[in-house]
Amino acid sequence: MDWKMLEWELISIRRDLHKYPESAWTEFRTSSIVADRLAQLGFELTIGKDTIELSAVMGRPSEAEIDAHIARAGTQGGGAPGGEAPGSRANWIDRMKRYPGVVATLKTGRPGPVVSLRFDMDCVDVDEAREPRHRPHKEGFASVNPLLTHACGHDAHVAIGLGVARVLMEKRDSLRGEIRLIFQPGEEGCRGAYAMTQKGVVDGSNYFLAMHIGGGVPSGVFGLNSLGYLCTTKFDAEITGKPAHAAGAPHEGHNALLAAASAALALHGIAPHRDGSMRVNVGVMNAGTGRNVIAGSAVMKAETRGETQEISDYVYKRAQEILQGAAAMYETEVRVTKTGEGTTATGDAALVAKAGAAIRKLGCFREIRETVQGGGSEDATWMMRRVQENGGQATYLALGSDITAPHHNGCFDIDESSIIPGVEALVAIVEELAG
Ligand SMILES: [Zn+2]
Ligand SMILES: [Zn+2]
Repeated sequence: MDWKMLEWELISIRRDLHKYPESAWTEFRTSSIVADRLAQLGFELTIGKDTIELSAVMGRPSEAEIDAHIARAGTQGGGAPGGEAPGSRANWIDRMKRYPGVVATLKTGRPGPVVSLRFDMDCVDVDEAREPRHRPHKEGFASVNPLLTHACGHDAHVAIGLGVARVLMEKRDSLRGEIRLIFQPGEEGCRGAYAMTQKGVVDGSNYFLAMHIGGGVPSGVFGLNSLGYLCTTKFDAEITGKPAHAAGAPHEGHNALLAAASAALALHGIAPHRDGSMRVNVGVMNAGTGRNVIAGSAVMKAETRGETQEISDYVYKRAQEILQGAAAMYETEVRVTKTGEGTTATGDAALVAKAGAAIRKLGCFREIRETVQGGGSEDATWMMRRVQENGGQATYLALGSDITAPHHNGCFDIDESSIIPGVEALVAIVEELAG
């Protein structure tokens, strides 16, 4: 393996994906690039709609928006370096049947474990910084899609996944069992993993690995077990009231804006739980149509989180009661739609130990941490949990990388020199498990 060449290639892929970011459920360009390369390498593929349980999909844009995203995906960028065969993009997108996602399987033909690895592909809904000190801007690979940025490093995750695919295919004669590479849409907002899990993409796995770049862990450091991902539920609340003249007949209106405002304040006042931490956030609130009109409608985008499933259920239940109560106060009605959900999971000690042994042998990290604190929430926990419930083992790894700004910030950028160590780490762990 010419690692220098591979590094150049993976950085080029990462920068290409960075320039053309796609948010949850719209990763059609990304998926087609992934599918094309993996097919060329000789993986067996399941793509798009065949990787998703449709009844479990949360937070997907409208069909009209999907149409627009598919159209954009078909035209943007000439494809990553060394990438797509001519005319292949439209063909792949067509075969996805309006749902992104790729599951690639390498069957070695020798008895052994099933090892599944998950890579998320989506970007964040935030505008990318246009500042001289921001490298993507300075070096010409900043996002060309307004309000979309790879500000969580999933562009690097995809590049690492493609690197792992390439190296494992070269080593296939020394591997046993089956390797499954899962390229997941919609991690942001915890939208995609649940539907893939329900479709069975991790079923039969003896081992499951996911990995995140950055996350407060510096370059040269590798974490074997990310803990502390919070259970979460994301939801939209639509409040419907009755508009009326603000001066002529205010008593005839049913004020959806006040219902939403009361709900927002009360949501942030939910009593904490004795048993652990919890969070509530109302991130978006829009209401009303005109200055002199009693607002007839309001929309809120909110989320609740808890350290355990029990705490998460508690805060979500209280939130629903508050929404109903606030709606009733103003004679309005509220309709709640779940748009995402994540659970918690903890790495298995036996797998953490094997991963640790593999990383130590590798010798390319200056520090190996048994546990690191994962921030926020992460929907790969659904996959971990499913594998663990079926008797397999799972862990969530942390790939250290010096980042230039916090995750989800428009100035976010990774240290690209951590991409190759990420590939080496995953390959080493797979070899430890299935070598
Ligand atoms: Zn993120
Ligand atoms: Zn992320």
